[in-house]
Amino acid sequence: MLVATVISPADEEVFACDVCELSYPPEDYLILLENKKLAYFRLDDEALSQEPKEGVPAKCLCHECLYNTLLREGKGEQLKVKFIYFDQENYGIVDPHDESGFF
Ligand SMILES: [Zn+2]
Repeated sequence: MLVATVISPADEEVFACDVCELSYPPEDYLILLENKKLAYFRLDDEALSQEPKEGVPAKCLCHECLYNTLLREGKGEQLKVKFIYFDQENYGIVDPHDESGFF
């Protein structure tokens, strides 16, 4: 199973998505994360079935790029993903037919 772990604002000096290069300093990321506007994820790539494309899966993915990666990985099917948010673990379904995304 894929595991997406939210990266703590305390973990890095600068946050930048490896795919779209969206970048924030930790103080801004903290505010955005608390307001559920943005999350950076680390994606455990052991279960990914295809070769990474241009750095995907990556060490740091914004939630948009994570979602797109998971949609591609699901190949049109629902994909079960484990999300780790600090000490909480949740299971989520990435559904290509659900336009609302997972945030
Ligand atoms: Zn991104």
